[in-house]
Amino acid sequence: MTARLIDGNALSTQLRSEFANRAAALKEKGVTPCLAVILVGEDPASAVYVRNKVAGCEKAGMRSIKDVYGPDVDPSVVLARIAELNADPAVHGILVQLPLPKHFDSEAVLESIAPEKDVDGFHAENVGALVQGNPRFIPCTPYGVMKMLESAKVPLKGAEVVVVGRSNIVGKPMAMLLLARSCTVTICHSQTKDLAFHTRRADILVAAVGRERMITGDMIKPGATVIDVGMNRFSSGPNAGKLCGDVDFESAREVAGAITPVPGGVGPMTITMLLANTLEAAERCAK
Ligand code: NDP
Repeated sequence: MTARLIDGNALSTQLRSEFANRAAALKEKGVTPCLAVILVGEDPASAVYVRNKVAGCEKAGMRSIKDVYGPDVDPSVVLARIAELNADPAVHGILVQLPLPKHFDSEAVLESIAPEKDVDGFHAENVGALVQGNPRFIPCTPYGVMKMLESAKVPLKGAEVVVVGRSNIVGKPMAMLLLARSCTVTICHSQTKDLAFHTRRADILVAAVGRERMITGDMIKPGATVIDVGMNRFSSGPNAGKLCGDVDFESAREVAGAITPVPGGVGPMTITMLLANTLEAAERCAK
């Protein structure tokens, strides 16, 4: 069997054109959706993510503000800027690109963002609302995965799901969202004793680890849906340096029923759902 592909690029294109229509409707009411992005330091990957987020806003007819600070900036400067953006009624979403330099208390920075503008969904108030099943903003990557499962019509109720990875950004919110849809969820992590025992039971397997091709075909239940969140680089071989996921795509696609590719799977959906959250924030303001 060769798995069918769940195409994140195609779904993103479709959703972003819907967002452009919603942004245009808001503009007619005098509200231009606006996302403020703060970048601190010189991490090249972060700079690319920020550039793509800003470009995504522009293409969807939304406004963006980009503030860039050097790696040695005093955290008080960034906190003061966040306070300013919190108070600005023309700004609907605020995002601080992670990771922050070591001299920053990242948690304090995330907590300083007004919860109603926290479009990444990382503020404790928003995490609490998600856990209670009443989310205000759903973190973008797991939100994108839910949209992909929905568009691929993957049955969720009662499904055995294994999420590999327990980060606050991906693994934990992913597990909560699937639980809310009545999946039976197992979360695995670096201390899990027999990872393959768990993954082989999964009707839906979500890999969010950050380790090049660690999930191989023999770890997958035949016919399962495999969602690869990982963004890694091939360390060797003919594709050295190119993007790859946590899943060994070639062996996995022979066993799985459906699979997301890397690139072109979860990656584009993350920015798409950031635009969705910004739009939702602006729509709430326009009510
Ligand atoms: P983190 O490093 O924060 O978390 C990784 C998780 O994987 C941890 O919970 C860790 O366990 C677990 N882990 C590490 N090694 C193993 C192992 N051998 N077996 C099982 N579990 C293991 O990463 P993120 O959640 O931020 O990101 C995960 C991946 O997703 C990365 O590749 C990242 O680049 C990618 N990503 C992609 C996005 C996209 O848009 N496509 C967006 C965000 C992330 P423990 O907690 O015990 O340490």
